[in-house]
Amino acid sequence: MKAVFIQEHGGPEVLTSGELPEPMVRDGLVKVRVKAGSLNRLDVYTRTGVRGMRREFPPPLVLGGDCAGEVAEVGGGVQGLGAGDRVVVNPNITCGDCARCLAGEDDLCPAIQMLGSALDGSYAEYVVVPAANVHPIADHVSYEDAAAVPTTFLPMWNMLVRRGGLKPWETVLVLSASAGVGAAAIQVAKNVIGARVIATTSTADKAARARETGADEVINYTEEDITKRARELTGGAGVDMVVDHVGAEFFAAAYSALRPGGRYGNCGVTTGYKYDLHMGAMFTRHLSVFGVFMGTKEDMRQIVEMVNRGKVHSTIHRTFPLENAADAHRAMEERNFFGKLLLVQ
Ligand SMILES: [Zn+2]
Repeated sequence: MKAVFIQEHGGPEVLTSGELPEPMVRDGLVKVRVKAGSLNRLDVYTRTGVRGMRREFPPPLVLGGDCAGEVAEVGGGVQGLGAGDRVVVNPNITCGDCARCLAGEDDLCPAIQMLGSALDGSYAEYVVVPAANVHPIADHVSYEDAAAVPTTFLPMWNMLVRRGGLKPWETVLVLSASAGVGAAAIQVAKNVIGARVIATTSTADKAARARETGADEVINYTEEDITKRARELTGGAGVDMVVDHVGAEFFAAAYSALRPGGRYGNCGVTTGYKYDLHMGAMFTRHLSVFGVFMGTKEDMRQIVEMVNRGKVHSTIHRTFPLENAADAHRAMEERNFFGKLLLVQ
């Protein structure tokens, strides 16, 4: 089958387009013919071998987590899915029978593996995954839209709906709304929960996009002070919750914008992973700081239901043919985009 893989860590040039054997289907697994896949930061970290993603070669590794396509074949014991079904793949592969998995907290499974990082992924004609990771999509949902969903929506759903418990009468501050996760946060907060959304971004163009996505207010952090503006927009009260997927750069400003009792959720550290936390302010102001990393299979089921009902949708910046994956990686590293970069075939 056609695939894009790496045989060593390095720059975009190590992405090799070539032929690899098709993966085998076993009991409980589903073979999906990939139609579209979307890039995530993890793809870049895995390619370069940083942030705990270094591995031994050979064998070569097929990159790519998020994807959507058509079921090609199902293994023994798989029910409710058949050849030709249009599906989206959840890239979190878990064991299915540890205490955490059985409790429905499978995002805490100690054996969790990410497709395209620990296991061969979706930069290929076919990918094989457990049936529990495969969700049917409605006819009106394109493969591209579906492929861009899992890694952007899972942490946001986990953070806003499940862990953070954002309510319709509350106000959430979404940092860096120009990334795919930021756009997902705005939609979950606005279209699913019905909360008020304040987004931050860096240019007038990105601010307009954030408003189109559903933000009620936008703070341009190159011109305005995030803490001061967020407090003004909440009548001095402060925001109920912060969504942070970028890490250290805005931590102090956003943390200070919380009302007493506010919640600070983080799911990424692209701008840095260390910051001094003022614990005195945390306990006297009843603040909660929590981290999320992706989500559960039940989170994914709920997200796909909302995608199928048209309540949330992906924000796609650009598509590339699979064999031009290196160009897509270069585009991702330039960071000048709003929404997801996709590989189609
Ligand atoms: Zn498990």
